[in-house]
Amino acid sequence: MTCRRPTIALTGFALLLLSCTNSQDGVVMADPSRQTERDAMVADQIVPRGITDPGVLAALRRVPRHRFVPDSHARFAYADRPLPIGHGQTISQPAVVAFMTEALALQGREKVLEIGTGSGYQAAVLAELASRVFTIELVEPLAKQAAQRLAELGYVNVIVRAGDGYRGWPEEAPFDAIIVTAATDQVPQPLLDQLALGGRLILPLGASFQKLTLYRRTKDGYERTDLIPVRFVPLLHDDRQPHTGTP
Ligand code: SAH
Repeated sequence: MTCRRPTIALTGFALLLLSCTNSQDGVVMADPSRQTERDAMVADQIVPRGITDPGVLAALRRVPRHRFVPDSHARFAYADRPLPIGHGQTISQPAVVAFMTEALALQGREKVLEIGTGSGYQAAVLAELASRVFTIELVEPLAKQAAQRLAELGYVNVIVRAGDGYRGWPEEAPFDAIIVTAATDQVPQPLLDQLALGGRLILPLGASFQKLTLYRRTKDGYERTDLIPVRFVPLLHDDRQPHTGTP
């Protein structure tokens, strides 16, 4: 499959829109290079941590993580660790990506919102498993780079926006799943509001140390489940200060 260059439309809110006319089902040119390392990553780091969802395991075997890290760190792309991606930000450890993705229990038809695009790796994993992915990144150069990368890899079902994700993406709500990949000490109310009935939201909740926390919207409210301890970079305001729970 060949994909034409991404259309990058900068609106008042800096919307980066990927388009690729000749795709099928939003999926994707594979990058077969370093497949052995990806298989080993899944076998050695992901399966031993109890991840069993076959879709998640297949997505991690497929998405070329080395294309989402700077060249200077490409040799560590399949190591069991987060890596710097510039602007003081990091691409998450593969096992954390797998854990959070599995918790969303995606079946293939979902509309997903991600806050904290970073490198675009998590968005690519989500794009393998859901129908459409909307992702917001505060740091505009990272947003542009991720949009470019995702387009080059043929991920036609991802839209990247530059801006403050705290407010979510109201024009596209409701979402079946929402994932926040930066830490905040209170769950942003706009994200809870933008969750569909039955939808799931996962985020690292807490100050310097956090717990991955899952919310599920029910007809009576939200069910909350505390999961594993993690450490993420903070969710920042558009003035680059951490969000403290109030919009
Ligand atoms: N999911 C990413 C890693 C996330 S690192 C990946 O797969 O590579 C956290 C990201 O959240 C950083 O890139 C940071 O710039 C971004 N971020 C922090 N505050 C934000 C906010 N309010 N809105 C959107 N993005 C934010």
